[in-house]
Amino acid sequence: MKKISIHIIALFVLLIQMGCTQIGNTFANINFYSDEEERNIGSQYAFQIEQGIELYNDKIVGKYINDLGQRLVRFSKRRNISYRFKVVNDPSINAFAIPGGYCYVNLGLIQLAETESELAGVMAHEIGHVVGKHGMEQVSKQTGLGFIAQIFLGPNSSFTEQMIASMISNGLLLKYGRGAELEADRLAIEEMHAAGIDPVGVINFFEKLAAKEKESNSEVSRLLSTHPPTRDRIKYAKKEIKKLSKKDYDSIKSVQFDRVKMRLSQ
Ligand SMILES: [Zn+2]
Repeated sequence: MKKISIHIIALFVLLIQMGCTQIGNTFANINFYSDEEERNIGSQYAFQIEQGIELYNDKIVGKYINDLGQRLVRFSKRRNISYRFKVVNDPSINAFAIPGGYCYVNLGLIQLAETESELAGVMAHEIGHVVGKHGMEQVSKQTGLGFIAQIFLGPNSSFTEQMIASMISNGLLLKYGRGAELEADRLAIEEMHAAGIDPVGVINFFEKLAAKEKESNSEVSRLLSTHPPTRDRIKYAKKEIKKLSKKDYDSIKSVQFDRVKMRLSQ
């Protein structure tokens, strides 16, 4: 029985990976889980992830990233969970967030950003995935498929756990659809506007990504490159920024940001 269910899980995971989303779409935008369950899944997932990465434990850099993250969170549309921001000692250009509010930023990404508003744009995008509960939608989609499988297999209480474990090991929790990515961009722009940080940073950073993506051995992580093509995102972001009311933003020059950059270049 156990052997069969593992095969079925593998099959469903494969279906999603192959982009066979027809069945999966039935469960898109559905979230079966409470905030409490999300927190539990998130903390388990964060624990697993942190076994496989090296965190960058510099107090000044860590505090700056956390302060910037919390400043954005204060203006986010979801404040009923606590958000944590950690720096990953990895030169590739990447950032990611997992359910439960755990956000990670690679050193390579901080190094590529030239202004605070560029860095804030990426961080606000990751917060956007937590606000939009995109990771939990992925879990729901998979467990929804698992539910169908259970109808054929009979009840198996450990099925959901196995399904989530399998998704984690395949990186599927972070593979959001185009709609979720654009929603995270829109939420990021609105959040930055509300926080007084110029959302033009979103576009400036995308321009840098677009240039990097053209390089043959680009350090842009596969994770970032699975997002909708950068040109599309730039167009969409410009449209969203146009909708905002006029506002005086902070200077894109930030003393703290420059201090962190100096520290990382030493
Ligand atoms: Zn994203």
